[in-house]
Amino acid sequence: MGLTIKKDDTVVVITGKNKGKQGRVLSVIPRKNRVVVERVNIVKRHMKPSAKYREGGILEKEAPIHISNVMLLCPRCNKPTRIANRILDDGRKVRACKKCKEVIDQ
Ligand SMILES: [Zn+2]
Repeated sequence: MGLTIKKDDTVVVITGKNKGKQGRVLSVIPRKNRVVVERVNIVKRHMKPSAKYREGGILEKEAPIHISNVMLLCPRCNKPTRIANRILDDGRKVRACKKCKEVIDQ
């Protein structure tokens, strides 16, 4: 089900400490059933000074969250929804919103 979320989708977190937050999907990690969502589940990493981070210090970065913790925010009806698969007349497989039934993909 949730595996049909793709990069650049907007999702909303439905459970856990980030519940209610929205963001754009930066990447999907299908092997682990996880997604990285912009500005959600930020972790701080203490960096030692290195060639890349000359000063060291604290780096803030999104940590992946489980895909079952998010729902797609439908770009048509603007509601969190599950995804239905639809086959168009020309044979293309696209995603559709289960709430408003509109096709999500172009
Ligand atoms: Zn919709």
